[in-house]
Amino acid sequence: MSSSLLDRIRHSTASKLTASYGFLYIASSLFLFVIAYMLLANVVRAQDQKLLTEKLNEYGYIERTKGVGALIEFIRRDNEEDTEPDYFVRILDPARRELLTIAPPGWSAVPKEELDTQAAEGVKWYLWEQPGLGGGVYEFSSRKLASGAFLIVGGDVKQREELLAEFQRIFLGITITVVVIGVGVGAVLANRTLAPIRDLISTVNSIGRGSMAARVPTRGTDDELDELASLFNSMLERISLLIQGMRDALDNVAHDLRTPLTRAKAVVETALQSNLSKQGLREALMDIAEENERIRTTLNTLMDISEAETGTMHLSLERVDVAGLIEESAEIYEYLAQEKGIILVPDSSPGLYAVADAGRVRQVLANLLDNALKYSKPGGQVFVTGWNEDGQVRVLVRDEGEGIPGEDIPRIFERLYRGDKSRSHRGLGLGLSLVKAVLKAHGGDIQVTSEVGKGSEFVFSLPGVGQPAG
Ligand code: ADP
Repeated sequence: MSSSLLDRIRHSTASKLTASYGFLYIASSLFLFVIAYMLLANVVRAQDQKLLTEKLNEYGYIERTKGVGALIEFIRRDNEEDTEPDYFVRILDPARRELLTIAPPGWSAVPKEELDTQAAEGVKWYLWEQPGLGGGVYEFSSRKLASGAFLIVGGDVKQREELLAEFQRIFLGITITVVVIGVGVGAVLANRTLAPIRDLISTVNSIGRGSMAARVPTRGTDDELDELASLFNSMLERISLLIQGMRDALDNVAHDLRTPLTRAKAVVETALQSNLSKQGLREALMDIAEENERIRTTLNTLMDISEAETGTMHLSLERVDVAGLIEESAEIYEYLAQEKGIILVPDSSPGLYAVADAGRVRQVLANLLDNALKYSKPGGQVFVTGWNEDGQVRVLVRDEGEGIPGEDIPRIFERLYRGDKSRSHRGLGLGLSLVKAVLKAHGGDIQVTSEVGKGSEFVFSLPGVGQPAG
């Protein structure tokens, strides 16, 4: 394994998680097994030690009531017929000289000196294991008697110690198995849990390399990491939209400004080359001012569209009387309508309230009315009607003008799109894009139906009072 790979593994969160959980797991399973073993060993040992303690108590009582000589007599008599006693007894006088030793045959190797020292020091339990394979294991307990003599009693505990050793082996085996399984499963789980984070990192890397289309795959697991992936994707979506908006706006600005700028340049060059009269110069300046105004309007409208589309347009939302705005806009366009010989018919039920930015709603109505009058023939009518429907405010702007060809309808809301026949009319091709973007920013929308030669009908909606806006 190369050192860089080892380094990566060491620094990866998955291995850190596995190591910490593995450590916790090993520590807690070891702790549990040690506790279980100690409890078990205590229970088993207590059984043997109870027998030795009983013997000590019995002999202690005899010595206390009848003296050490009687005790020795008692023990000797007790073991007279027993050629092979199964327990060990040793009595020492206060100066640690041997008074009696009864030991089963196999116990000859028991280190009596050490045993005597332990007894004199008051050590309660003394375990001695015969060295070498298959040697015996003995446990002794001692007591200082009333006369100052020392009494040592012992028993064979080989079977018990073998059983405990077997338990130790079993516990160790289980601990190792549990730890290996635990660490293995932990590693797989940590690896799986961190897979979404790795996806996130690789997506961020792809974006860093310039691929804005990269997205984090979601697994549909509905957990926090999946939610993070979805949120990250929607954030990317939004950023892409903003970037796209900026790119489009820049393209459109470049495209749309070129014409008025070229015209202004031509006017300036002509004015500079020819010997113009005062009046001629004045007209040239007026032409330049007009182109300048056109550039300003285009820029402002493009910026408005971008802001509305990307959700950064500031809207002063309030309770807006849409019926009042329809009346007001109709009044403004009445003069233009009369001039073109068109009848403007405003009509809306009172109590038509929307949650909107009044200035932006005026802008929407102005654009739609402007188009309706622009594309109408003299003698036609233009209707502006407002009503409430499904908690929304709807407004219809209908004309009896030239209509929109079917193939143009899907494109009229695009920026800078102008119908072929519209080229003879003034316009930037930005009005409807702005209308749609502004309505969308409010949480509303616009629909169009049109028939060539018969007229067009635009219906837009805004959230009514009580409906969420934007
Ligand atoms: P313009 O400045 O060209 O009017 P708009 O964005 O307002 O730009 O409209 C886009 C195109 O939609 C127009 O060029 C025209 O072809 C078509 N259009 C919009 N409104 C109407 C209407 N009321 N009647 C016929 N055509 C229309």
